[in-house]
Amino acid sequence: MAYDDTNIFARILRGEIPAKSVYEDEYALAFHDINPQAPQHILVIPKGPYQSMDDFTAHAPDALIAGFFKAVGHVARQVGAAERGYRILANHGADAHQEVPHLHIHIFAGRPLGPMLTPMKD
Ligand code: AMP
Repeated sequence: MAYDDTNIFARILRGEIPAKSVYEDEYALAFHDINPQAPQHILVIPKGPYQSMDDFTAHAPDALIAGFFKAVGHVARQVGAAERGYRILANHGADAHQEVPHLHIHIFAGRPLGPMLTPMKD
């Protein structure tokens, strides 16, 4: 499936829709999630047309992959989350309930974050 450049994060990258930005460099943009699930809930997106983690790791150039992941770590330190701890999460595809088809890494911090996943039912 082709990248849909009308998705909301593509529009944020183009400056067509505002976002509460916390960091930007040549590889990545980070901004507050509009519906926070933790006291700190930040999204980091790569500057490139990649639908998800799967697309990004298969097709993005090495410099962008490295720059993007360095930006994720930088943002976590910048907001003071590295000391007490944080969780990163990226949803790919239907089973993971990915809503926006542009790769985004969630950074959650600011409270004990509980178990990784809802326990499985037998
Ligand atoms: P996912 O389910 O991993 O695709 O998560 C999509 C995330 O994008 C959700 O946490 C939404 O709250 C968030 N979101 C959707 N629209 C916006 C927006 N305009 N600005 C910031 N976050 C958004």
